Amino acid sequence: RRAAIELDYQNLNPEQRRAVLATEGPLLLLAGAGSGKTTVLIHRIANLMKYGRGSDADDVPEWVTEDDLAFLEDYIKDPAPEKKERQERLCKLDSAVPWSIIAITFTNKAAGELKERLERMLGPEANDIWASTFHSACVRILRRDIDRLGYNKSFTIYDSADSERVVKDIIKDFNLDDKAFPAKSILGYISRAKDAMKSGADYVQECDKAGDFRLQKIAKVYAEYERRLREASALDFDDIILLTVRLLQGFEDVREYYQRKFRYVLIDEYQDTNNLQYLLASTLAGRYENICVVGDDDQSIYRFRGATIENILSFEQQYKGSRVIRLEQNYRSTRNILEASNAVIKNNQGRKGKELWTRHDEGDKVNCYTAMNEHDEAQFVSAQILSGYSAGRKWKDHAILYRMNAQSNQIETAFKRNGIPYRIIGGIRFFDRAEVKDMLAYLCVVNNPGDDLRLQRIINNPPRGIGATTIERAQNIAAQEGRSLWEVVRRARAYPELQKSAAKLAAFTDMVEELRRLSGELELPAFYEELVQRTGYAVMLEQKNTVEDRTRLENVQELLTSINGYLENAEEPSLSGFLDEIALYTDLDNHDPNEDCVVMMTMHSAKGLEFPVVFVVGVEEGIFPGIRAIGEMEEMEEERRLCYVAMTRAKEKLYMTCAAQRMLFGRTSANRPSRFVGEIPETFVEKSGRNFLSENDGEGQRVLPTAAERRKAAAIFQGDRGYSVGSSTTHGYAAGAKPTASRPTGGPGKVGGALPSFQKGDMVTHKAFGRGMVTALTPMGGDALVEIAFDNVGTKRLMLKSAAAHME
Ligand code: ATP
Ligand code: MG
Repeated sequence: RRAAIELDYQNLNPEQRRAVLATEGPLLLLAGAGSGKTTVLIHRIANLMKYGRGSDADDVPEWVTEDDLAFLEDYIKDPAPEKKERQERLCKLDSAVPWSIIAITFTNKAAGELKERLERMLGPEANDIWASTFHSACVRILRRDIDRLGYNKSFTIYDSADSERVVKDIIKDFNLDDKAFPAKSILGYISRAKDAMKSGADYVQECDKAGDFRLQKIAKVYAEYERRLREASALDFDDIILLTVRLLQGFEDVREYYQRKFRYVLIDEYQDTNNLQYLLASTLAGRYENICVVGDDDQSIYRFRGATIENILSFEQQYKGSRVIRLEQNYRSTRNILEASNAVIKNNQGRKGKELWTRHDEGDKVNCYTAMNEHDEAQFVSAQILSGYSAGRKWKDHAILYRMNAQSNQIETAFKRNGIPYRIIGGIRFFDRAEVKDMLAYLCVVNNPGDDLRLQRIINNPPRGIGATTIERAQNIAAQEGRSLWEVVRRARAYPELQKSAAKLAAFTDMVEELRRLSGELELPAFYEELVQRTGYAVMLEQKNTVEDRTRLENVQELLTSINGYLENAEEPSLSGFLDEIALYTDLDNHDPNEDCVVMMTMHSAKGLEFPVVFVVGVEEGIFPGIRAIGEMEEMEEERRLCYVAMTRAKEKLYMTCAAQRMLFGRTSANRPSRFVGEIPETFVEKSGRNFLSENDGEGQRVLPTAAERRKAAAIFQGDRGYSVGSSTTHGYAAGAKPTASRPTGGPGKVGGALPSFQKGDMVTHKAFGRGMVTALTPMGGDALVEIAFDNVGTKRLMLKSAAAHME
C-alpha cells in the first residue's frame, strides 16, 4: 500500500505530499499562484478514498510492517473490539466513503474540473463526492430542509438581474430618485447586510439608530425587498447561503446530520470567502474538524463583495493544533512571467509576503504593447493569435483577460473579421437572452405559480389581451390582500375590478394548470415541447418570421439541449432540479473545454485557471487600475492583486496591452500605461507598439522609439498596414453584379498598391488556415464577406480586408 501511494504521488514535491497525506485535523495550505494548491486538494480527496485516513507519513513513520499487515487482514475478517485500538493506531485503513467528502470551490468551471479530474482518478464512485460551488451545495441542503424555516421546498432562485428588477420596482413604488439610489449600489448594501446576518428589520432598526437619512431609505428598500422575495418564495444568491447557515445554526438535528455526514471538508480559494461562507464551512466541519482550506492572500479579489482575508489569517487561532503548509515552487509559468508577477505584487504593503520560484526556463519576456487605439489593440491581439495558430497552437491555448466586460467588444469584432473562433465567458450569455428568459419564466411559474416576478413576465407574452392596467390592478389587490399575484389572477371573477379581463385571465390560468398537470406526467423534454406549443410562443415567433425571430426560435429550441444535458447528469431529474441548475449557471459551465476556441473573460472569472498564452488588455491608468482605485490605497492594492491573478494565469507567453487613445462607453480618452506595467523591471519586459511611453512619464511625455524598435513595430504591423486599403471602397465590388475583391500585390506592408481580384473558385492560402477555395463573396460596405472552404479547417467566413493580410 505504501508503495502504491508513492507511485501515484511521486510527482508531488515533499511539501505537497505532506499536505496530501495529512488527512486528519485542520490544515491551512497557504501558497502563491500556480504552486499546486488545487492539485493538492484533488490528490487529498483521491488519497482519502483510495487509501483512507491516517496515511500521514509524519504520524506513522514505520507505516505498515509485515506483521501489521497480517494483523489487519485478520482484523478485516474478525473485527473484535479489543483489536480496534491497534487497528486505529496503525493506519486506519478504512478508506473514506465518497459521500463523506465535500469539496467547495468558487466558480462552476472550477467545480466542473474538480469533478472531472476526480472521476478520472477514481471512476464512477467520484460522483458521490459533493464537489461543487458554495451555492450548489447550499441549494442541495435547502431543498431537503428549507421548510423548517417556513419556506416552500419548491422555491425559486433569483439571479442578479431578477434581484435588480425587484429593487428597481421598489425604488419606483417608493418614489425614490433612481439616480440617488441606483439599484446596483442598493443591492450592494443589502448583500453586505445579509453577510452580517442582518434581516431587513434588523437593518431598519440599526439605520434608524444611526439616523442617516440615506441609509434609512436603503434599509426600508431592503425590508421591502425581503418581503417581496419571501412572498414569491424566491431566494437570491445571498439568501441561498444565509438561509443554509440559519438552517444549520437553528436546527440541531439538521446540523448534526451534515456534521456527521461530512467527515472531510475541503475549500479552495479560501481567501475569497465572506463571513457567511466562513460560517458555513466552520459549521459543516464542526464535528470532525477535518477541514482543509486552500488559498493565497495575494489573490484575494472579492473584498468588494465582503470577502475577508481575515478568514485565512485567523485560521490558526480558530483551530488549535492546525497545521500550516506553505508551497513555494511554481509549476505553471516561465521564469520571466513569474518574476514579473512577483515584482508587481511586491508593491502591496498589506501582505504576508512570499516569494515563488520555478525550475522552468526564462521563456519569452513579457510583451508590453502600446497600441495607437482600441482597434489597433484588437488587431494586434488577433495577429498574435493567428500567428500562434499557424505555428501549431490551438485556439483554446489563448485567453483574453480584461477588467470590465464592456472591453470585449472591439476584440470580438476583430475576431469575427479574422475568423478566429472565440467564446465570451460571463458576458451576455445564452440564458440572458429575452426569449430564453421567457421560456425559463414559464417553467418557473409551472414549478411555482407564486413566483410573481416570472408570472408578470409571461402573463401577456405572447400577447393575450391582458393589458398593463389589468395586471396593475391585480397586483394592487395582491398587495392589499397579502396574496400572490397568481392567487388573485386565478380568482379574477371574484374581483369587480378584474371583471372585464376575467375570461382572458381564466384562459391563461387554465393553460398554466394544464401545464402543471402535464409536467407531472411527461418526461422533461416532451413536456418542454408541449409548453413551447401550448403557450403560443412558438406560433408567435413563426408568424413574425423575421431573421431575429428565427434566431429566437432557435434559442427557444436550444434550451432543449440544456434540458437533455441536465438529464444526462442528474440523479433524480425534475423540473425544479433543472431550474436550480440553470439559476446557478454561468456561461463558464456552458463552455465545453474540448471545443477549440479563444476564451475571453474578466480577470475575476479567470481565477484558478491557466492558459499557455494570456493577453491582459486595456492595461491603462483609469481602466486598470480603475479610476475608483486611484488615490485609494486599499482599492489600489486589490487592483494589484487582481493584476497578479491575471498575470499568473499565463504559462508560456504573457502580453499586456494598452492603447494611447481609447474609446470606451462612447468617450475617447488618452490614458497613460498602467502603473502595474511600470512596476515590472525592464529585464523581464519586451516593449513594442506604436508609441513608446517610458514607464515614468508622469507628464505623459513620449519617448521616441529606437530604429530597432521602429523596425519591430513595423514588422508587427505589416499585416495591418497591408490591408488597411481604405481605397478598397473604390474597387467596385460594392456595386458590381459579380463581386470581386482585391488583395494586395506588393505583399504585406505595401499600402494601397494595384490590387488584383479574388473570384469565386480561386484557390488561396491563408497563413493560419492553410489552403482553401473561395466559395462566395458578398460585398458589404467598403469590405466584403468572403467564404472560403479550407482543406483542413472547414468553411470560414472572413472579412476580406482582414483576411487578405493573412494570405500568402
Ligand atoms: P492558483 O493559485 O492559480 O489557483 P494553484 O496553486 O491552485 O494555482 P494548480 O492549478 O494546482 O495551482 O497547479 C498549477 C499547475 O502546476 C498545474 O498545471 C498543475 O498540473 C501543475 N503542478 C502542480 N504540482 C505539480 C508538481 N508537483 N509537478 C508538476 N506539475 C505540477
Ligand atoms: Mg487553484
